[in-house]
Amino acid sequence: MRVAVVGAGPAGIYAAEALATDHNVEVDVFDTLPVPCGLVRYGVAPDHFSIRSVRDKLVETLDHPKVRFFGNVTIGTDISAEELISIYDAVIYTYGASQDRALGIEGEDSDSCFAATEFVKWYTGHPDAQDFSGQLARAQDVVVIGLGNVAVDVTRVLIKPISEMNETDMPEHVLKALRNSTVRRVHVVGRRGPHHATFTTKELKELGELEGVSVNIMASDLPSSDAEASDGNRVVERNLKVVRDWAERDSVDTPKAINFRFYSTPLAYSERDSELVVERMTVLPDGAIQPSGELERIPADLVIRSVGYKGSHLTGVPFDSAKSVIPSVDGKIIGAERSYVAGWIKRGPSGIIGTNKKDAVATVATLMADLSEQPSGAQAPDYVVSLLKDRGIQYVDVSGWKRIDAAERELGSLSGKERTTIHERKTLLSLAKGN
Ligand SMILES: Cc1cc2nc3c(=O)[nH]c(=O)nc-3n(C[C@H](O)[C@H](O)[C@H](O)COP(=O)(O)OP(=O)(O)OC[C@H]3O[C@@H](n4cnc5c(N)ncnc54)[C@H](O)[C@@H]3O)c2cc1C
Repeated sequence: MRVAVVGAGPAGIYAAEALATDHNVEVDVFDTLPVPCGLVRYGVAPDHFSIRSVRDKLVETLDHPKVRFFGNVTIGTDISAEELISIYDAVIYTYGASQDRALGIEGEDSDSCFAATEFVKWYTGHPDAQDFSGQLARAQDVVVIGLGNVAVDVTRVLIKPISEMNETDMPEHVLKALRNSTVRRVHVVGRRGPHHATFTTKELKELGELEGVSVNIMASDLPSSDAEASDGNRVVERNLKVVRDWAERDSVDTPKAINFRFYSTPLAYSERDSELVVERMTVLPDGAIQPSGELERIPADLVIRSVGYKGSHLTGVPFDSAKSVIPSVDGKIIGAERSYVAGWIKRGPSGIIGTNKKDAVATVATLMADLSEQPSGAQAPDYVVSLLKDRGIQYVDVSGWKRIDAAERELGSLSGKERTTIHERKTLLSLAKGN
């Protein structure tokens, strides 16, 4: 049996591992990027070294004799979904959920208002990222909208001392922009209270440990009873302890600050006045929140909204646009023959990297239960190689990826680091070719 996997992020690689290792199935993994690992490379914060090192484990699967990697191949454009299923016995879609959600407020489309997805792409060295060097060289106040871990990552990257970023694999142009950054204050804005936030405690706590950075919280934003507000949820309980400690700290003069603005709904952004207008929310006795009518203006030379990721439709594959996922039952796509789904495009953007392993293994179990008894109708392994060559698509195979990997390690070693990310697609492709 031969299976195609669309997306070489954690879900795709874990699916390939389960197919090849546990079931002896041949797998071709396609990714639109020349390099594997999805958001583990282009999402997970570069200063979170141990989480990023998951990449080293993930790419081992690409060395499995039954697995082939086809980077720089976009399914839906270079090969259609209809073609793909005609070439393989089954297809597993694991193409993630990397579109941003909009706020729908006035001024959101201005040149100083961005999605966190874009900012994260930039600092991780994604080939399609826009450059933020100019913005960071002018901005003093940045508003980050959102109360989740991505908002925390973005805040930390904006304000962390550069001496602690130099060791990361961020591309040199990103480190240079952070070195020249004029950002002094990050205002983290969210509609709800600290006990509604989806931060994990370790990430939240880290903000209070940054050298030369104070964290400010309005004591009135804290719940009257932490026990009641956390309602037995240990993470919320620990988060409340962290923010309460911050609220109780004596104020000190620091060169940089993070100001949390809970219970503040963004209403409009004015680039000309460099301010975000928010409406304060009131907490009712039953815990519900409602607009108070009180407006506040928060200085904002730059606004980065981090209000969630969502999946997008791939032509020829069923899609639930209300939930922004591919509809499925136990990983089998509803309305498509021999087609399966795993990872964020199945569940939506939630869970940690490891959640995708359990998910991918479950989907592979469904696939195997459906198809393992059937004779293979797949094309021979060379078929897809000829198809890509005929179409003039320069795909990156595992040896091409290894050449990129070696070049990144070599570049990093020049500055005494493990790796420096190479961000230009042209360079990545040229390295993959062996040039
Ligand atoms: C900013 C950020 C920080 C995070 N930090 C952490 C963290 O610290 N710890 C943690 O546990 N988790 C973290 N996560 C979550 C983790 O990254 C995800 O759980 C995981 O990457 C989801 O895996 P996936 O394979 O479903 O999607 P992805 O990782 O997005 O992989 C999807 C792959 O599909 C490819 N693709 C897309 N469209 C096509 C197409 N048409 N054809 C071919 N290929 C395609 C993409 O290029 C990508 O490589 C973070 C996520 C983000 C966004």
